[in-house]
Amino acid sequence: MVAAQDSADSHGGGGPPGARTRPYIGVLFRCCHVYARIYLNRAGTAYTGHCPKCAARVSVKARPGGSKSRFWIAE
Ligand SMILES: [Zn+2]
Repeated sequence: MVAAQDSADSHGGGGPPGARTRPYIGVLFRCCHVYARIYLNRAGTAYTGHCPKCAARVSVKARPGGSKSRFWIAE
């Protein structure tokens, strides 16, 4: 069952998520063997970014309880 759309306490928040405190994770891009940060998307559902060298896209699903690892390897 997936029916968790209308969550009760989402009304009247303290404004949009701060742009300065946007969470990020570090990713090692295997394609070019470079390290880069990717940031949480607006929806807060995944970290998305791209390889700084070849622009290969990568996205890592954000875990509800917070990811254990802040470091990932993009295959
Ligand atoms: Zn690359």
